[in-house]
Amino acid sequence: MNTNGKKKIAILGSTGSIGTQALQVIEEHPDLYEAYVLTAHNKVELLAEQARRFQPEAVVIANEEKYEALRDALADLPVKVYAGTDALCQIVQEKPVDVVLTAMVGFAGLRPTISAIRAGKAIALANKETLVVAGELVNRLAHEYHADIIPVDSEHSAIFQCLAGEVSPIEKIILTASGGPFRTFSMEQLATVTKAQALHHPNWSMGAKITIDSASMMNKGFEVIEAKWLFGVAPEQIQVVVHPQSIVHSAVQFADGAVKAQLGMPDMRVPIQYAFSYPIRLKSSFDRLDLCKTAALTFEEPDTRRFRNLELAYEALHAGGNMPCIVNAANEVVNRAFLEDRIGFLQMSEVIAKTMREAAFIPQPTYEDYVQTDAEARRIAASCVGGTK
Ligand code: NDP
Ligand code: MG
Repeated sequence: MNTNGKKKIAILGSTGSIGTQALQVIEEHPDLYEAYVLTAHNKVELLAEQARRFQPEAVVIANEEKYEALRDALADLPVKVYAGTDALCQIVQEKPVDVVLTAMVGFAGLRPTISAIRAGKAIALANKETLVVAGELVNRLAHEYHADIIPVDSEHSAIFQCLAGEVSPIEKIILTASGGPFRTFSMEQLATVTKAQALHHPNWSMGAKITIDSASMMNKGFEVIEAKWLFGVAPEQIQVVVHPQSIVHSAVQFADGAVKAQLGMPDMRVPIQYAFSYPIRLKSSFDRLDLCKTAALTFEEPDTRRFRNLELAYEALHAGGNMPCIVNAANEVVNRAFLEDRIGFLQMSEVIAKTMREAAFIPQPTYEDYVQTDAEARRIAASCVGGTK
């Protein structure tokens, strides 16, 4: 905590879905939190607007070509303006920063997250790709530099909340999945679904990449990997259960058979706020869950035949080493290709599986190995996508 008693928060990706909701949380508690750093990749106008409203110490635009536009837009304000990835990595280490919310998307989040960990900052982790790619390394560094990692992902926040006050080990994690917009679709239907259909998630409004990942269930596969690293459980201890209503955000089963679940409306501001306020809870004006007005809560097993990505993620988790990094890189390529109408829905898993077979396996990767693996897997996946045009 700093001079004015407010927690100073650096939001990596303040213009995105998580980032803008985090700013709403800060707005709800202006006496407790301060947006100290705001960052974006390309959206100069929105970032400048946010800077005007929240008066942060500094803003960073990752795309260096946008630096001048941002600097000009903020010329009349005493806000420091920086550009580039190096600046992102430096700014999170600034002394006054208490919490770094990692709300960037994809592999790009890894370096700044590691940088923040090395400075011992508390990490409110939304960027799940960081743990998918390099969970072992990130955990080791977090331990070494005494950096707390608090999950923001709704399922992992739910598990984290279920574990509060518990001292006994987890028997099983029950990770809920909405099943996405194509939960009931046949293979024939899946073969022809469009990006517009995929972008229409039934329960959550999120950024485009994670919305596609939710439709393909790669998001759930990544969350299995994320759960392993956050909670130290074996893959066999994580059960994915499809729960279309997204009211039970996840659950934990203990040695005596007792199951604790966390329920609520699907609203990311709740886990974001909890990550900021942990271990206490703050009041909020967000919608309340009324169980009497809630339709039946239903649960079913996922179908890994139609949603092969889930199986590929488990395979990667079992293989260990750089395999999850390979899957993540291939997924970033096919996700974008699907968004650009260059690949069909079912082909996404095919390309990922092929990349897993072809990229070099490294059992104990270093940070540099991850960077190389990411580049190699992207190359392989991109060439496959080219072939399936
Ligand atoms: P969005 O696409 O909405 O936002 C991404 C943010 O990151 C934007 O501010 C964007 O800037 C910035 N950004 C993108 N690429 C880069 C880059 N290469 N370098 C620097 N900044 C970059 O994503 P979401 O908010 O949906 O997701 C963010 C993370 O949180 C993801 O890892 C996702 O998996 C995770 N998450 C999201 C949930 C949600 O409800 N949205 C739920 C659980 C987890 P710009 O706007 O300028 O492009
Ligand atoms: Mg989630």
